[in-house]
Amino acid sequence: MAPADFSRLIAAAADTIAAHAEELTALDQAIGDGDHGLNMKRGFEAVRTEADAFAAKPLPEALKAVGTKLVMTVGGASGPLFGTLFMALGKELPGAPDRSGLSAALGKAIEAVAARGKSQVGQKTMLDVLAPVYEALAQGKTASEIADAADKAAEATVPMKALRGRASFLGERSIGHMDAGARSTALLVRAVAEAIEGN
Ligand code: ADP
Ligand code: MG
Repeated sequence: MAPADFSRLIAAAADTIAAHAEELTALDQAIGDGDHGLNMKRGFEAVRTEADAFAAKPLPEALKAVGTKLVMTVGGASGPLFGTLFMALGKELPGAPDRSGLSAALGKAIEAVAARGKSQVGQKTMLDVLAPVYEALAQGKTASEIADAADKAAEATVPMKALRGRASFLGERSIGHMDAGARSTALLVRAVAEAIEGN
């Protein structure tokens, strides 16, 4: 990937997180502690600041640098998990990935997130968006179909009962609200999908 393209992906990701920070905060206020919007915004603005330096690296190194920065700056439970996602993607991706290389790497990265979070699909977390995105990618869906699948998957966390993270402390009362990390994941997926499709 050309450095300018990688910088554009980072800008698109940081833009959507900034534009939806209040929404993410409100979601986390309902069934968590209300810091998710600020956590994500702090992290992605930190990544944005170094976008050009990261983009100058080969793609796997660039993704690892993004992941490391997110671990250092997002905080909360989600920081290490989003950090792991990007670091593992960097570790698994070949230098010039095609779609099958990308979906294989995403599959491995999702496994790394699940291992880090001791979590699995169905527990009302970011994994409930990541897994369907992986499926859609592996099935050869278009970028906009993948973004739609991510939105649908985030919506599908509403009726779920949280079994991981702070929301799980609420038990049944976590039902009826969208998971904040599922929403932020869907926002990131759409931003990346639209930036790639626009290429
Ligand atoms: P915190 O919960 O520490 O306040 P955030 O509010 O930034 O951190 O992030 C909360 C989000 O992190 C949740 O909405 C959920 O999607 C995700 N999350 C929390 N714990 C886990 C876990 N064990 N596995 C996967 N995702 C998790
Ligand atoms: Mg929180």
